[in-house]
Amino acid sequence: LRANFSVIQKETGFVNGLITVLHDITEQEKIDMERREFVANVSHELRTPLTTMRSYLEALADGAWKDEQIAPTFLNVTQTETERMIRLVNDLLNLSKMDSRDYKLNREVVEFNKFFNRIIDRFEMSKSQNVKFIRYIPDLSYFVEIDTDKLTQVIDNIISNALKYSPDGGNIRFGVTVHENMLKVMVSDDGMGIPKENVTKIFDRFYRVDRARSRAMGGTGLGLAIAKEMIEAHDGKIWAESEEGIGTTIFFTLPFELDEAGDWE
Ligand code: ADP
Repeated sequence: LRANFSVIQKETGFVNGLITVLHDITEQEKIDMERREFVANVSHELRTPLTTMRSYLEALADGAWKDEQIAPTFLNVTQTETERMIRLVNDLLNLSKMDSRDYKLNREVVEFNKFFNRIIDRFEMSKSQNVKFIRYIPDLSYFVEIDTDKLTQVIDNIISNALKYSPDGGNIRFGVTVHENMLKVMVSDDGMGIPKENVTKIFDRFYRVDRARSRAMGGTGLGLAIAKEMIEAHDGKIWAESEEGIGTTIFFTLPFELDEAGDWE
């Protein structure tokens, strides 16, 4: 809180009043600080792959290109780093679009369980890890009005994380339930978990429990921040429950539609 004092003086010179204006600057300061932190994070996230690429390119230019063993490996590194930067810039563009005032959802009515099952099928078909998928998805129709592209992105991110952190032979459980007029969706893994004090922070921009590990896995640290914005744009909530060494569960909710007769669909 900052106070501005103005003295009210009469022509005679006598002070007969004092106006105090109290500004709540804490909110503005918080926004400024977050913005500065965000720019610093973006710069750092871009500089790291760029410096890596520079040193590999320098080595190639210095003669490593002639070595048939080394050259492909070095080129591979620069390619991986380029792809990471593209992902990062795409994530940033996504966030900036969501921050803009004319951000619109392209909503359509879909049956959620069918939509969810299709996404899980895609992951189940292409996964290379020894991880079992278990579905607790009722054979019922739940209609939601969602932007399917955005929701696909959210669910993709949650499942990718669950796979990333799953141990060999682990299970990933998928669930859909109804709670107080909201659909509650769950993705749960048997992974390393998240320390208690960090569970809420994983939805912050650029926050990672283990920066080096996330980077090594190609993460940008923006996936869950984007997921949070997207779920909130759909009037839902997203949160995590986790226990170290046991696993992590990500939950999100979505409002769910009344049909024309006024029944819950
Ligand atoms: P990243 O690109 O690092 O995956 P996210 O925003 O998707 O970024 O996730 C942020 C961080 O949350 C991750 O770096 C990781 O530390 C933690 N996290 C997310 N999902 C899980 C999970 N299923 N198990 C353990 N940690 C997780």
